[in-house]
Amino acid sequence: MRILIVEDDRLLGEGILAGLRQAGFQPDWVRDGLVAWNALQAEPFAAAVLDLGLPRLSGLDLLQRLRASGSALPVLVLTARDTAEDVIKGLDSGADDYMVKPFDLGELAARLRALVRRAAGSATPVLEHGELRLDPAAHSVEFRGIPVELSAREFALLHELMLNAGKVLTRAQLETKLYPWGEELESNAIEVHVHHLRRKLAPELIRTLRGIGYSMPS
Ligand code: CA
Repeated sequence: MRILIVEDDRLLGEGILAGLRQAGFQPDWVRDGLVAWNALQAEPFAAAVLDLGLPRLSGLDLLQRLRASGSALPVLVLTARDTAEDVIKGLDSGADDYMVKPFDLGELAARLRALVRRAAGSATPVLEHGELRLDPAAHSVEFRGIPVELSAREFALLHELMLNAGKVLTRAQLETKLYPWGEELESNAIEVHVHHLRRKLAPELIRTLRGIGYSMPS
């Protein structure tokens, strides 16, 4: 699940990047508002972590621009300014949640999971699909009541397919959802992960639409 971190402070940005990776996300990090805006137009991020004081385009301006464009992307605002007025302004500009610096990385990850889950229309933390259960917080999967060991990428792929059950995801869409910038990607990577998931779970759980993509039948 790709998360865009927009933070101009180097230490903080590096810390959040490492923390979100550790929590099983695929985060990308940019350091100014305009680059963030362009990235959000180009890539299918599941959520953004947004600092307010940013070069070129402020966090609030970016947020307003995003909402004016019709984007419903979940956005968590990070603010050093803990006055009620700033928090109100952020929420009124379209932020879904906020945290005041300094904050706990585990809590940030948990809040992001909640935002992504609600954006996908699910109120419960654990995703269920027939006899398949996926717990994003525990990073665990069970099929027919038995725990299944998955690699980080297999887990991320299954998570995307479950969030989009009944819809077809193209290989290109899955690649951009699963792989952060600059990461080496074999041309058949998605195919290989799907193959492994079918073997570890059940072949009929993931349908191939030849030349189009993959779907989890709803
Ligand atoms: Ca800043």
